[in-house]
Amino acid sequence: MSAQVSNAFVRLNGTMLQMRRVFVFALCVPLLFALQLDAARKTRNVILVTADGLRWQELFGGIDPLLMNEQVTGMEQAPELRAKLWRTTPEERRKALMPFFWNELAPKGVVLGNLEKKSSVRVTNRYHVSYPGYSEILTGRAQDDVIRGNVEIQNPTPTVLQFLREKLELERSKVALFGSWDTFSYIGESQPGSIYINTGYREHASSAISPRMRELSAIQFDMLAPAFDVRHDYVTFEMALEYLKREEPRLLHIALGETDDWAHDKRYDRVLGMIGYLDRSLNVLWRWLQSSPTYRDSTTLLITCDHGRGSTLEDWTSHGEKIPESQQIWVAIVGPDTPARGEAADAPEFLQRDIAPTIIDLMGLDYRDYPGVLGKPIQAALSH
Ligand SMILES: [Zn+2]
Repeated sequence: MSAQVSNAFVRLNGTMLQMRRVFVFALCVPLLFALQLDAARKTRNVILVTADGLRWQELFGGIDPLLMNEQVTGMEQAPELRAKLWRTTPEERRKALMPFFWNELAPKGVVLGNLEKKSSVRVTNRYHVSYPGYSEILTGRAQDDVIRGNVEIQNPTPTVLQFLREKLELERSKVALFGSWDTFSYIGESQPGSIYINTGYREHASSAISPRMRELSAIQFDMLAPAFDVRHDYVTFEMALEYLKREEPRLLHIALGETDDWAHDKRYDRVLGMIGYLDRSLNVLWRWLQSSPTYRDSTTLLITCDHGRGSTLEDWTSHGEKIPESQQIWVAIVGPDTPARGEAADAPEFLQRDIAPTIIDLMGLDYRDYPGVLGKPIQAALSH
């Protein structure tokens, strides 16, 4: 491009008119080049992983000293777990809790939301509970007037999953959501059947079902989790992984739920256990993606949560309008269009509603074409 520009300068000389043309051309070239670069994203696939109510405190600081010795958090029964996860600094503690995430994944991308380092990501919906949070992630806006909590209503707005399926003219099987919580069948799409959704205690219905998928689909009914409407994350993750291998979706949302359920049940030991499971799942997922010619170096992995939780011994189990700090979330993005900057510090604030526009941008489209979107692409996670 620069060689052509200098040749043009050499050829075009003489009259004032010609000079003016050169000047305009020289001004336009960098602009055109920038637009071209912007459209030339390397991302062809996006995988969104959500961990319900996983606090920024654990993600960035590992096991919480405030909760780790208490009888009311279930930790007096767990001396071995405490010994395994305790270190003197937050950086060491988080590596003990999430070794794959912090040693391998985070350095390859961007992690936003550590309030201790002046990086904030927060929700804009007023409720700080799951449905409004997931909907904000998937539609790029809060809809406080209609989504007032976890009531099972069909999402009134087509989600980014539906929007991208239509824009990219994808078959239905190429856009999928696997969730532990059964309410995702309402959250994930405005029109039932628009995308493939399999959530809490539903069989995987397909004529060409693999032996592994048949097994997973069946065992969810034999290994019931404590909550009636949330199946085990193991089933959800393994089903999603099997689907990924068989159907090769371009967009996949894996929605894990047990980090929230165990916190509500005041079982910090189990919360820590499920964060460890998330880390191992991300390791399996990332290694498989990098081993696949279809996904290697063309897939962006985006990991986030629907809401935060309280920060005291009394309210760490809960979240909602009355717990203001439960608005704080975090986002990790790793992929071929994201700079390898690791954990952000002294960063501008980003919002939950920015995630959908970021996904649209990563897929090479203009987020402003998504009707009613309020968020903007997260510039800190995009190479230009
Ligand atoms: Zn909850």
